[in-house]
Amino acid sequence: MCGIVGYIGNKNATPVLVNALKKLEYRGYDSAGIAVFNGQDILVRKVKGALKALEEKIAKETIEGSLGIGHTRWATHGEPSDINAHPHLNESGTIAVVHNGIIENFAKLKAWLQSEGVVFKSDTDTEVIAHLINYYYEYSLDIFEAVKATVNRLEGSYALGVLCKDFPDRIIAARKECPLIVGLGKDENFIASDVPAVLEYTRDVYFLDQKEIAVLYKDHVDLFDEDGNRIIKQPFHVDWDISSAEKGGYEHFMLKEIHEQPKVLTDTMRPRLVFEGGAPVDIKFDELCFDEKWKEAKRIVIVACGTAYHAGVVAKYVFEQLARVPVVVDVASEFRYRNPILCKDDIFIVISQSGETADTLAALRLAKQNGVHVTAITNCVGSTVSREADDVVYTWAGPEIAVASTKAYTTQLMCLCMLALKAAFIKETISASDYKKYLCELNSIPEKVQQILEDKASIQRFVSKNYNKQKVFFIGRQYDSATSLECALKLKEVSYMHSEAFAAGELKHGPIALIDTDTLVVATATVPELYEKLASNIIEVKSRGASTFVITQDDSGAFSSSADEIVKIPSTESFFEPMLSIIPAQLFAYYCAVHRGNNPDKPRNLAKSVTVE
Ligand code: GLU
Repeated sequence: MCGIVGYIGNKNATPVLVNALKKLEYRGYDSAGIAVFNGQDILVRKVKGALKALEEKIAKETIEGSLGIGHTRWATHGEPSDINAHPHLNESGTIAVVHNGIIENFAKLKAWLQSEGVVFKSDTDTEVIAHLINYYYEYSLDIFEAVKATVNRLEGSYALGVLCKDFPDRIIAARKECPLIVGLGKDENFIASDVPAVLEYTRDVYFLDQKEIAVLYKDHVDLFDEDGNRIIKQPFHVDWDISSAEKGGYEHFMLKEIHEQPKVLTDTMRPRLVFEGGAPVDIKFDELCFDEKWKEAKRIVIVACGTAYHAGVVAKYVFEQLARVPVVVDVASEFRYRNPILCKDDIFIVISQSGETADTLAALRLAKQNGVHVTAITNCVGSTVSREADDVVYTWAGPEIAVASTKAYTTQLMCLCMLALKAAFIKETISASDYKKYLCELNSIPEKVQQILEDKASIQRFVSKNYNKQKVFFIGRQYDSATSLECALKLKEVSYMHSEAFAAGELKHGPIALIDTDTLVVATATVPELYEKLASNIIEVKSRGASTFVITQDDSGAFSSSADEIVKIPSTESFFEPMLSIIPAQLFAYYCAVHRGNNPDKPRNLAKSVTVE
């Protein structure tokens, strides 16, 4: 959510800031702005709307200077408007602030500042930060001390970039809960909410930790803890290519990322497979200790949000089938507020693509406060989740730019399937020969995903006839019921069509009342033992007027009389099928979005990384 950037160096800051903000557009925003010190004053340009609108404004009212901060806002306090857009200034315009997050005690602070005579211009929580810094600055005349004193009074979450006219040689940056990195260049330094913003300029970054404060000068960066003590940390060298954060010939990032799945599934799986004589014989997680705890595990608890939660739901079926351990899956926003029962010997797994998801982080911290060991699955090295968890299993999906998650989801499934297989093996709930058989099959999954991607025509054809449907319901049984959840989410995220997922057996208990001729029912059918039951469900909805679409590996004709259209996928073990059956649904969602004139990369109202509650 929202993007922060900052630049100090020898270049003209304005184009650098705008360029860096463009790389953060994927995070979602409703307004944008920059503040640049022109050698005399801090000048601000900010507008409601897209970066294009900001560029037009800057073209008319240029600002030059080699020190600046920039922001794309995703409004939480106060409507999206020019006035509420960041940066925000103190009354005399000598201090400028960009902020990501929510200041929970802003009303109290605002009332107090107003009682001190401060006049506010915007409705944001952020503006209190600018005035508070000013308040402390008047005492200390030291901008670092003023920021330090200010952040001590803030409750809630923040990533901050601060400029002060009296200190034109530095940017002050600080963070709590919201992500912030420092990019280290030669005679120039940067701040940004995420790595792609600075990749064009540098590959060496610091990931700021909770409550750390950075002071950036042109030629060096000083880091401090919340008490102002100097800290030393190693820069992280980013080794992925900038092209992986660009579209590479595809019309949209979402389509590109769907097509990257064979590669990223391989990247996530292969380094963790042990091969003998060309065949995989074991799984090793160097990053995890598969100790007695996994062997004796009485319960696995998985907590996540959105798409990552759906990966958790699939994992419940996989772990329970293979390793015979009960699994509880919970959405993080519910888990954190319902006084959950936690046991010290739980295997506790959190899943977050960005590693910054606010609710998932809160769940992680709650588990740790209760003495529970936390394993995280995330795609972002250096993210808060990765730093705070006890163990981290990375999905090697590369940067996911499209807001709707595709490759992060399937790589999460890959990690979870591998964990389940390894757990089953050490718990001896599967035989050694089955273990090897399953590993060989797992090794073929990327190739099978590739086969599905090579045969998109039937999906495109089907979309062209159905993209105007009023309602789309996804149904399935067992693994397919879990997959349906993610299918429905993908479609609603990018096409804005009303879509829901139902366990097929639940249709009769209510949802069937919704079926009419304007309904499309998409069934995933990958569990042969349940084909017949599912076929009956499809006939039931078809006879009530619905159009039907079946995603299956069946070629016995089990759905020939019930399905209007069938998309064939390769067959595999049922517990690996969710990595395949989601692919046609991702394509279906993508093409529906495009047919309806939506930009699938930036769906309305959504943000990529949900760093606020
Ligand atoms: N809470 C701040 C606002 O509403 C910052 C929101 C953001 O993270 O973009 O302006």
